[in-house]
Amino acid sequence: MTELEKKPGMESLTELYKTGRGPSSSHTMGPEKACRLFAGKNPGADRFHAILYGSLSKTGKGHGTDRVIEKTFGNVPVTVEFSDSDMPLAHPNTMDLIAYRGDEEIDRARVMSVGGGKIVFEGSTLAEVPRPYGLSSFEDICTYCRNEDIRLWEYACRVEGSALEGYMDGIWQSMKESIRRGLTDTGVLPGGLGVQKKAKHLYNQQHIDESAETRENRMVCAFAFAVSEQNASGETIVTAPTCGASGVLPAVLYYQQRKRGYSDREIVHALISGGIIGNLIKTNASISGAECGCQAEVGTACAMASAALAELFGLDLDKIEYAAEIAIEHHLGLTCDPIDGLVQIPCIERNAVAAMRAINAVSLSSFLSDTRKISLDKVIKTMKETGEDLARAYRETSEGGLAKIHLCGR
Ligand code: SF4
Repeated sequence: MTELEKKPGMESLTELYKTGRGPSSSHTMGPEKACRLFAGKNPGADRFHAILYGSLSKTGKGHGTDRVIEKTFGNVPVTVEFSDSDMPLAHPNTMDLIAYRGDEEIDRARVMSVGGGKIVFEGSTLAEVPRPYGLSSFEDICTYCRNEDIRLWEYACRVEGSALEGYMDGIWQSMKESIRRGLTDTGVLPGGLGVQKKAKHLYNQQHIDESAETRENRMVCAFAFAVSEQNASGETIVTAPTCGASGVLPAVLYYQQRKRGYSDREIVHALISGGIIGNLIKTNASISGAECGCQAEVGTACAMASAALAELFGLDLDKIEYAAEIAIEHHLGLTCDPIDGLVQIPCIERNAVAAMRAINAVSLSSFLSDTRKISLDKVIKTMKETGEDLARAYRETSEGGLAKIHLCGR
């Protein structure tokens, strides 16, 4: 079994929700962690060399991978190479790290950044993480919850212990902080596209005759823009499940907290239930745009937000499942094609659209769950197959779709 083959059980939700700096969990957070571990393993090195392959090479410049690598090695000199080799890769986000002392190569490692900031060192257990969840299908988890008469978040707390709620409260505070910062921030996003930050404008642009529905859409979008613009600016956000898709879940939950006065504790429980859905997708399909396209990032975020909102509304397991299933089903085939490799166009608007879609998915599920024919497990499997069928140009290589339009002079 290779490191990248799916193993039984699921990792902790603390491996899914992580606070860190944007703009990309796979292109900045993952490589940063890999370089930190590699540098720590080689304190005697006097220089390093990093070679980026696949999607890390194709969109690494726009995502700032080279800058993050240089920053992480600190005072030790490092050179970064963007390889155009077409050798077969075990994962599209692959990099080699090489340590030198004088002219001598003293260490070398191949690392894969597999999504959500997680890394895998080839042939090593350096970054192995425990898998506390024995169950890894919605059907099995649902059966367990029904037999025990508990909700999804209670199941997660049984598996991970009571510390999970404390961790998730920290995650929720970080999410709210990124919204607050995003709503006051103005100016142009870095990278050369000239994209203006719009969250503050969206938030304040009230019309006298605005309907309640229009206002809801505007507010939810303003919150999603706020987080996504913070991410694109390299500021602190929470992976939910990735940096590129970090705006969806906070936007939906923050809007509901302000509108209906839910407590932080209730939101934490919703985040945990949404996290179970994200974990199922991460385990049985992918949350990596380079692996399965944007359906794996924004599609997953939409499914997590739908399940979280259904939990917040106190809907039953059938309706939670149906809401998440609708959310993924209608993102199937969504390509990853960021213009000039920057997590800005179409990414920021896409977060806002997915947040509105999550609210709609919950409305639909609350009316129709008795009639549904497709299970969440089936649609997750379909998402994986669809992702594998997507041409490489549509999987975070900046070679197809919208990414063929070049707007900045880099
Ligand atoms: S298109 Fe989607 S998957 Fe690709 S970088 Fe943007 S948000 Fe991430």
